[in-house]
Amino acid sequence: MENCIFCKISKGEVPAEIVYQDDEFIAFKDIKPKAPIHILVIPKKHIISINHLSQEDKELMGKMFLLTKEIAEKIKVSKKGYKLVFNVGRGGGQVIDHLHLHLLAGWESTKDRDIPGMP
Ligand code: 5GP
Ligand code: ZN
Repeated sequence: MENCIFCKISKGEVPAEIVYQDDEFIAFKDIKPKAPIHILVIPKKHIISINHLSQEDKELMGKMFLLTKEIAEKIKVSKKGYKLVFNVGRGGGQVIDHLHLHLLAGWESTKDRDIPGMP
């Protein structure tokens, strides 16, 4: 998509602090972080929002969640915990019309708060 900033980042046309990338996804630091750690995970495919998903995106979305879990492990926030947010539409706070999952983490915590069964 022309004029989509996240498509431009995924093609390397606009710089970003990339934390992960493969053929289908790219994850990079949010330019205006709303948490001590704020990463955006996006599919390289231009999908506007959750509202625009179709059946053919099933596998892609499954991969996106597993990848996000791996990124959380890599940046060592899995145990302390983190938030995952999709803003959908203007009323939901979405500003960039390219599907992205916010991974927010890094707040102060005295100790890891384990949930039974959590890896
Ligand atoms: P939204 O409100 O659409 O869910 O979130 C868009 C996010 O993208 C915001 O948190 C904003 O700070 C971030 N953002 C917008 N433009 C850029 C950019 O050019 N580079 C990076 N790294 N983040 C961006
Ligand atoms: Zn795009």
